[in-house]
Amino acid sequence: MHEMSLCENIREILEKQARADGFARVNKVWLEVGPLSCIEPEALRFGFDVVMRGSLAEGAALDIASSHATARCLACGHVATVQRRYEACPDCKAPGLQVTSGDELKIKKLEVV
Ligand SMILES: [Zn+2]
Repeated sequence: MHEMSLCENIREILEKQARADGFARVNKVWLEVGPLSCIEPEALRFGFDVVMRGSLAEGAALDIASSHATARCLACGHVATVQRRYEACPDCKAPGLQVTSGDELKIKKLEVV
């Protein structure tokens, strides 16, 4: 389950951020998940609770929003919003748009003390 290691990454980012900005507790974390990231929100929530135990974000609330994925057509340069990989270009019908964003997990906002 890769959600677990993603949560470990988030914890590391939070700890680094806490040292840099001088906060001691994280109350809430807003995440943005790309539709192509293969992340299960439920697995992410579960992993978050487990991984944050004993850290500065123990018991923090988690808000997961879905972002848009974008892809560019290599044939005509058209940029489209997509929901999955390997869609055909809506403009020139060329197969296999190249995904330019939407497969990432981002920390959008933190509520800290
Ligand atoms: Zn095209």
